[in-house]
Amino acid sequence: MTTAGEAVTASESVTEGESYDFVVVGAGACGLVAALAAREAGKSALVLEKLDEPGGNTTLSTGSVPGAGTRFQREAGIDDSPARMVEDLLRTSGPHEAEELVSWMAESSAEVIEWLVDEHAVGLYLITDYKHVGHSVPRLHAPADRNGANLTADLVRACDRAGVTIRTRTPVAGLLVEADRVAGVTVDPVDGVRHDIRAEAVLLASNGFAASRALLERWIPVMAHTPYHGGAGSTGESIVWAEQLGAALANETAYQAYAAVATEAGDILSWTTVELGAVIVGPDGHRLGDESVGYSAFAEVIASVASESFTIMDQRIYDYVSRNEPRFVKIIDLGCVPEAPDVTALAALIGCDGQTLAGTLAAAAASAAAGTADEFGRTDLAGNGLQAPYYVCRTHPALFHTQGGVAVDQHARVVSTSGTPITGLYAGGGVAAGISGRDGAAGYASGNGLSTAVGLGYAAGRHVGR
Ligand SMILES: Cc1cc2nc3c(=O)[nH]c(=O)nc-3n(C[C@H](O)[C@H](O)[C@H](O)COP(=O)(O)OP(=O)(O)OC[C@H]3O[C@@H](n4cnc5c(N)ncnc54)[C@H](O)[C@@H]3O)c2cc1C
Repeated sequence: MTTAGEAVTASESVTEGESYDFVVVGAGACGLVAALAAREAGKSALVLEKLDEPGGNTTLSTGSVPGAGTRFQREAGIDDSPARMVEDLLRTSGPHEAEELVSWMAESSAEVIEWLVDEHAVGLYLITDYKHVGHSVPRLHAPADRNGANLTADLVRACDRAGVTIRTRTPVAGLLVEADRVAGVTVDPVDGVRHDIRAEAVLLASNGFAASRALLERWIPVMAHTPYHGGAGSTGESIVWAEQLGAALANETAYQAYAAVATEAGDILSWTTVELGAVIVGPDGHRLGDESVGYSAFAEVIASVASESFTIMDQRIYDYVSRNEPRFVKIIDLGCVPEAPDVTALAALIGCDGQTLAGTLAAAAASAAAGTADEFGRTDLAGNGLQAPYYVCRTHPALFHTQGGVAVDQHARVVSTSGTPITGLYAGGGVAAGISGRDGAAGYASGNGLSTAVGLGYAAGRHVGR
């Protein structure tokens, strides 16, 4: 038996004898959904998580999962289809190396969401009050409070009910490889001894490599020194193991960034603020571009010109987001969204020249009132622009997660450079090739991260179940 990953051989293992039908590396949305689907089909399933708690980036996210043609959309009178979702995503991403994956994810997206809600009591609700970046109709389904921690909690409860074993503080250190197939994993538990666990199938669900400076230098050097705002577990070792076994890579230079992390709160400032009309200015009081290109693309726009920015909103936006998003209220409670009764006070909070800022807001308001594109091409500013009193949050761009990885087929099986599946090995979520284009942050549409996490997790679990 040989291994991929750390130099672990079977003879070095201290404990042997554990065996499961399905072993999953990583307890985020991808791993938990996959284990649930396989368990439902009667397979024994073990999920291994290296950190103290399950959840990874899924917990940090807003938990928004795209579904095209769900019954929740039909009930809300929204006409959607997988074909429309594919069109939307490819329009946003441009051509890339995993376009078939976009179709597979779109085609199963409604089924997965309904299965999670109906069969496993996972709380996902269609967001109808606004559309997200890259989507021509409302199709994101999220926890009621748009907090990914609740998606994780619901999935963990569903796994518990179904009889999935979840073991935390148990890093996987490498893959067991036997006669050209993956036959299990080697684990190195924080509180135990290194040992092998055999499996008929292994799913790599350990997310991407945004927490690894070395892998960023290799694939996305432009982001290697940008602040990272994701889970500590995303260190990319699974992608390297799969590559060592001959897996093809795809879209590994794509990533999701975020334009507005609330600096003092250390949490994301909801992009709903911008979608409802907030604008972002630099320290000099000038806008930095067209914010409506989306939080990921806009982060890429501003990362090279401003390490600090200010997101300005008015009472209408502030009240709406406070009513709907507890996470925003937390940022307010920390004092990170102070009020300014007029432009002069707003400029003082930002530390910029009042006349410059007044000119910036007046220009945006004029194009909003005229219903024309502003100087950057933005067309979605509402009404007569922002009205006093204003609110402002100090923000900065950050890297959230990487979007590319190993090539997979429609069953989430890892595909080798010769085009054939590597027996016994599956990948999903941030480990797998993404659907956000082949390069940079601009191809990311809202929900693309959880789309391949939930979608490929479901595909892997169902295939293993069969
Ligand atoms: C702040 C933020 C907001 C976001 N909002 C959204 C959103 O609303 N919608 C969306 O689609 N996407 C969003 N994303 C991206 C999304 O969270 C991820 O794409 C998605 O959660 C990936 O799911 P996953 O299961 O692949 O990985 P994760 O949820 O990160 O789970 C992977 C798990 O594997 C564990 N692990 C890693 N290596 C090992 C190992 N060797 N052994 C054992 N365990 C290991 C990790 O610790 C982690 O717990 C957001 C990301 C961030 C950071």
